[in-house]
Amino acid sequence: MGSSGAATPEGKKTTVSPKAVIYQKYGSRASYEVEEVQDFVQNGCPGLCIPQKGPCLYRCRLNLPELSILSGTFRKKKDAEQAAAEMALQKLGIHPLTHNADVRDAGEDLVSRVAYLFSNEFLASQHPLSCHFRASLSREGYLYGSVPVSVIAVYDGKISTLCKLIDPMVESNPSLAISFVLRAAATLPTLITATEGQLWIRRQNPYPPEVIEPLLVEQPSTLGGVCVQALLIPSSLNEDVKPVTLNVCSSNYYLDVIAQKLGELDASKILVSRPIGKASSETRLYFVASDLQFVEPTSDLNGKKLDIFEGSMNTRASYLAGQGVYGGAILASIGYTWKSKDLFHEDVFLKLYYRMLIYKTPSGPYKLYRESTIAAELPVVFTIKSNWRGTFPKEILCTFCRQHRLSEPVFAISRYPVKALSDLSGSQKKLKVTESTEDTGQTNENAANHGDDETVESVSHFRCEVKVLSKLQDLLLQCSPKDFYRKETDCIQNASLKVLSWLSSYFQDFNMPLEKLNSLADALDIKVNTQHLFKEFKFCSTMYLNQQRTIKANNCIDGPQATEEHEHYLLRIEGPESGICPSNGSLACICYSACLVTEVGHTKELIESSHEFEFEMGSRAVNPHVETAVAQMSVGQSAFYLVDLPSQELILAAANDSARALSLINSNMCSLEYCITLLKVTEPLEDRMEQALFSPPLSKQRVDYAVEHIKKSGATTLVDFGCGSGSLLESLLDYPTSLRKIVGVDLSLKSLSRAAKVLHSKLSKSLDADMPCKSIQSATLYDGSIIVFDSRMCGFDIGTCLEVIEHMEEDQASLFGDLVLSSFRPSVLIVSTPNYEYNVILQKSDLPSQEEAPDGKGQSESCRFRNHDHKFEWTREQFGSWARNLASRNNYSVEFSGVGGSADHEPGFASQIALFKRLPQLDERLEDGESVHLYNVIWEWSNHETTKSFD
Ligand code: SAH
Ligand code: MG
Repeated sequence: MGSSGAATPEGKKTTVSPKAVIYQKYGSRASYEVEEVQDFVQNGCPGLCIPQKGPCLYRCRLNLPELSILSGTFRKKKDAEQAAAEMALQKLGIHPLTHNADVRDAGEDLVSRVAYLFSNEFLASQHPLSCHFRASLSREGYLYGSVPVSVIAVYDGKISTLCKLIDPMVESNPSLAISFVLRAAATLPTLITATEGQLWIRRQNPYPPEVIEPLLVEQPSTLGGVCVQALLIPSSLNEDVKPVTLNVCSSNYYLDVIAQKLGELDASKILVSRPIGKASSETRLYFVASDLQFVEPTSDLNGKKLDIFEGSMNTRASYLAGQGVYGGAILASIGYTWKSKDLFHEDVFLKLYYRMLIYKTPSGPYKLYRESTIAAELPVVFTIKSNWRGTFPKEILCTFCRQHRLSEPVFAISRYPVKALSDLSGSQKKLKVTESTEDTGQTNENAANHGDDETVESVSHFRCEVKVLSKLQDLLLQCSPKDFYRKETDCIQNASLKVLSWLSSYFQDFNMPLEKLNSLADALDIKVNTQHLFKEFKFCSTMYLNQQRTIKANNCIDGPQATEEHEHYLLRIEGPESGICPSNGSLACICYSACLVTEVGHTKELIESSHEFEFEMGSRAVNPHVETAVAQMSVGQSAFYLVDLPSQELILAAANDSARALSLINSNMCSLEYCITLLKVTEPLEDRMEQALFSPPLSKQRVDYAVEHIKKSGATTLVDFGCGSGSLLESLLDYPTSLRKIVGVDLSLKSLSRAAKVLHSKLSKSLDADMPCKSIQSATLYDGSIIVFDSRMCGFDIGTCLEVIEHMEEDQASLFGDLVLSSFRPSVLIVSTPNYEYNVILQKSDLPSQEEAPDGKGQSESCRFRNHDHKFEWTREQFGSWARNLASRNNYSVEFSGVGGSADHEPGFASQIALFKRLPQLDERLEDGESVHLYNVIWEWSNHETTKSFD
């Protein structure tokens, strides 16, 4: 507990972003051009002619007087800009970390920046802040030309950066920046009037007419007023947040209008927050400065000092803004932007306010993304990527950190070589992980457990550690899961999800005793530095501790209790039983609606609904009552039930008509009616079972089996029928073989594009590095059906067809066999398919995702097979006769083998394999008949050509 230790760098420095450093050095002489990067570059696979819908990528060119730099590609524009700035700094030999050392410089820079803001030149420039200066000239009397300091501190990026350099505490208490600006202004008495104790400043001498006149001419012509909807957040939690209308017109300064709504005469004492919610928004809080503003509220939450702030502190507004707000506050989306000289404005309704609140909770971004604030929950487990719906945990964690003004989370990934034993008994998972440094004497111990027929393979496994740090680099918490993952991304997602789960529990009950917080953390491999954590979340905790109605995120760790709460609800299920039922680990697709209904049932108000909402059963991805209901349904049935109302915040974040929803909620006779129809069930993936029960995973064992054969065969050409995402072709590239030409055929474009990408990246590396696959001269992927003839498939040394035939109807499987052996005639053909008899072992195994079939009802047809897409699964007998008939019809020999399990023990191998070999034939002549091209080349790579294009 409470280890900050190594993570906190000495002497807490703020890190200034590379862009900020460039800005300080070059100002407007630095220009950034961001461009979208086109498809073929972005999929990393030149020549792949399947259009990719992937996310847009951006690249940035930074032009400086002395050089121009092009960044790599990024998903976000701002990342591309920062990367370009960073590259420029490297080129210029400027080190951002040491650059920030000089606070005195920053103070001087601040003075000159403030002086510049009051210059003639700035008044005429295009800047959100210069619009305020111009607007101040429309103010009357003593207000003429006076600008609220808060505006200067908030709307000028350079000022913010400099203030943060002077004191990093500005991050948590932005009002400090105001004192810095005032202090700077005080050193410019001939230029600026700053009156002691006042929060506005004004130019000492009026702007000359030749500066002002052209500006008056181009004044926006909209003399009429506009009504902007905003919200008033009263300081007292007993008063509701309520709509207010701002009547703004071009002849008055909009901040004065806001000030009047807050009971002030004018904007002199108005403070403006940073943007709230999404970073790009113009939604901000406006409030009246308080004397308390300029004191750093104590970090000691348990101490007494905090009391003086209570009373007048506006907890809701402080929570949203992440800074102390006292008295009433206005939430409005209005202001000057870079885009136009006109005032930008948008209406803000109650729903947006409640969505902002939800967005700040650890599960909020997930719920909002799924557009299901009431029914969806952040799952407590991340099983496999393809079962996850909505934003991934890592992204949610990053959003959470940004929302709470923390540093970006730090992910540290370690890679471990693994001595994995091929587990031929197939019923247990056995993995031995050894860190590379202590890689001695371990293997024997394992071999002893295992009998004689295992092979030792080395694979990499990953572990991820996540750190959450404050902006000042204090370590708040650290999650170090002990689990290993086969994929790097899985370990990152899992660790992120653990952090989010813990934060979720914390957010549900800020009163939770320390021991409970710590024991929850222990269970999730998390260590919390409570002192720093409490300090960072002070606004959250004051908000929730003071508030009666807390936001219920509903996904606390100790699940079962939560489920029980809902068990007394009467569940009505309608429609005929179809026998297709969801089990743990399967994906359920539902259509649902949730309506507020009054006890008497006369009124009904739709709050939330979805036509197609898919989630993984057993991962708590929905409210417990939704999952309980769905678990009892079969496809096609509908369920109806009532539950108690969730928190008002959740309802208002979902409801379109807040006023109506509120009046129903307040009627006190109201519940929530759910209506759910189960549309579809997708069984747990075969893939998942193969990974969980076999080590190495069965799919890897199959590929390795084929690779062994290919290596020994001396073959120079290979075609993989039904290559899917290219798992075999890709593995082949890891070994030196005699192969010169490799080909894959499949009819899934999605899989083929994945295959193209991995092959492309490996093969292009082979050009400059001494890679094992350097013998390969050409690689081609075809979109085509392997039961259709194409003359380009003829005459290969080896054909492979792993786990494909069971995806076709049985007659098509025979057709494929005949076509390959009679027309394509490879010297060797390797075919693998599941052994149906082995399924009993898989079903008996205690794989968490496999639940026992519900009593009485037999399992549905689709559950009997390992994958819902399988059209059949054959016994050894069935496969044997298929293969022997084929072989004899086409003059091939055939032998049988397999992977997972063993030939000598019932029920044989988990995956059965037939190895066909072409028999010498006297009259064999390879027909070079006419060329028939029915497959489409979707990607092609050739060693020769690529080398040329590099020249
Ligand atoms: N051989 C791969 C993929 C197996 S999954 C591996 O071992 O990883 C089965 C694949 O067969 C899918 O990619 C599917 O698209 C493909 N497939 C099914 N019927 C096909 C057909 N008639 N022609 C070509 N590919 C087919
Ligand atoms: Mg299959």
